[in-house]
Amino acid sequence: MVFYDIFVIHNNNIEYIQMSIAERIIRIKKSIPSNVCLVAVSKTKSYNEIMEAYETGHRVFGENKVQELTKKHEELPKDIQWHFIGHLQSNKVKYIAPFISLLHGVDSLKLLKTINKEAKKNHRTIPCLLQFHIARESTKFGFSLDEFEEMMHSSPLGELKNINLCGVMGMATYTDDENQIAQEFDTLANIFQHLKKTYFKEEDNFKEISMGMSGDYPLAIKKGSSIIRVGSSIFGARNY
Ligand SMILES: *Cc1c(COP(=O)(O)O)cnc(C)c1O
Repeated sequence: MVFYDIFVIHNNNIEYIQMSIAERIIRIKKSIPSNVCLVAVSKTKSYNEIMEAYETGHRVFGENKVQELTKKHEELPKDIQWHFIGHLQSNKVKYIAPFISLLHGVDSLKLLKTINKEAKKNHRTIPCLLQFHIARESTKFGFSLDEFEEMMHSSPLGELKNINLCGVMGMATYTDDENQIAQEFDTLANIFQHLKKTYFKEEDNFKEISMGMSGDYPLAIKKGSSIIRVGSSIFGARNY
């Protein structure tokens, strides 16, 4: 499948124009506020496709498979800031701990403890986002607010010195219903505000809300997103 970005009427015919990766990423960056971070989601995309985006000056890329990410990290320029946006298994943390810039999908105490341990081994602190379940689908990962609060009461996270908690992340339901998506983004923004004032008042780093993908990032930004994760609108549809 090919995605066309614009159409023009020419000699009474509709002509579809496909933009390049470079044109798309530049266009998206111009259209979003400068304080919103764009993660270019490059999963399944090749070295050359990623380099086309890189050569526009873009440096923040996202992947959701550990093996694919470590390979790309080895091959591609070292000043890329890699974000991990997938579901991370504890036994794989060690492969990305040395270099990862931000872990978006942290959703258990076990995972937090493992990340802390691996970060320590690498003499660094790892920035992490807490993933919350905001979608109606039961397949999406993430804490519920209750689960998170229970964890905070039974095992406060203060001793995890090598973790830098930077905020929250969530994925809306895959649907055309904009009202529903808007509600789910509001839910995440409210969770963020609640956590900020209850647990992270003194933590200046706790400030990010990662929400919004190709289909819904303008809405997510309206709802307070500070990090958007955009794949197909930059690189085109993925072939799995
Ligand atoms: C693939 C993916 C994206 C990007 O999806 P697009 O619809 O292609 O923009 C964003 N977030 C996560 C967690 C993903 O897995």
